[in-house]
Amino acid sequence: NLSKRLEQVADYVEKGARLADIGSDHAYLPCYLAEKEEIEYAIAGEVVDGPFQNAVKEVKYKGLTDKIDVRLGDGLMVVNAEDQIDTITIAGMGGALIRSILEKGQAEDKITGSEMLILQPNVFEETVRCFLMDNQYEITAESILEENDKIYEIIKAVPAEAPVHYSKKECLFGPFLGREKSDVFKEKWAQQLKTDQFILGQIEKSKDPDPKRIADLKEEITLIKEMIT
Ligand code: SAM
Repeated sequence: NLSKRLEQVADYVEKGARLADIGSDHAYLPCYLAEKEEIEYAIAGEVVDGPFQNAVKEVKYKGLTDKIDVRLGDGLMVVNAEDQIDTITIAGMGGALIRSILEKGQAEDKITGSEMLILQPNVFEETVRCFLMDNQYEITAESILEENDKIYEIIKAVPAEAPVHYSKKECLFGPFLGREKSDVFKEKWAQQLKTDQFILGQIEKSKDPDPKRIADLKEEITLIKEMIT
C-alpha cells in the first residue's frame, strides 16, 4: 500500500499525465498511478544504483514495463524532449535539493516551463516556494498531513501567465496552508516555534553570536506567533 504522503502526491497528478518521478526509489508512485490507469506514461528516475534496481524490480514485478521506463541519472537529466513529459513529481527530498534539480533541469533545457510540478519537500518548503515564485509558477494546491509522527507538505504548481508574488509569510507557511490553518499545520508550527526559540537561546548565549542569524530567527518567531496564536 502506498503511504498517505505519496497518495496525496498521486492525487494531484492529473488523468492521462506523462510523468517524470525524480528520485523514485521503488517507483511506488508511478506504479500505483499506472496500475490505476491514471497516467499514460512515466519515467522513474534515480541517481543511486540501489534505488534504481529497486525501481527496475518493482516495475517488472507489477508487469508495467510497457508504461514505465526506469532510468539511471541525475535529476531531470533522464528526461528527453521526445518523452513529452507534462508532469514532474519530486518527493521525499529536502527543499534545497528539489530546487537544485529543477534549476539544473532548466539550465539543461530538460524542462520547458510548461510542466505541472508536484513537490513534497521534507524540509525547507520555503526554498521550494521561493523557487516557484521566482520562476513564475503559481501554487494551485497544498496539503499538509501527518504520518508516522512526521509532518509532510505537498505543493502543486502550474506555470502562470503573469509574474507571481508570494509574501515572506506565504513562502514560509504556504498560501493555502496558512489560510486553512489545519490542526496539523498548527502542530507543525508550534514545534518549529519551540525549536527556533531554543536555537535563538543557544546562539544568544554563544561567544560570537551571528547578528544576521539572530535577526532571521526573531523574524520567523514573530511570524509564527502571528500565524498560530
Ligand atoms: N520519491 C520517493 C518517496 O517519496 O518515497 C523516494 C524518496 S527517497 C527518500 C529519495 C530518493 O531520491 C533516493 O532514492 C535518492 O537516491 C534519490 N535522489 C537523490 N538525489 C537525486 C537526484 N539528484 N536525482 C535523482 N534521484 C535522486
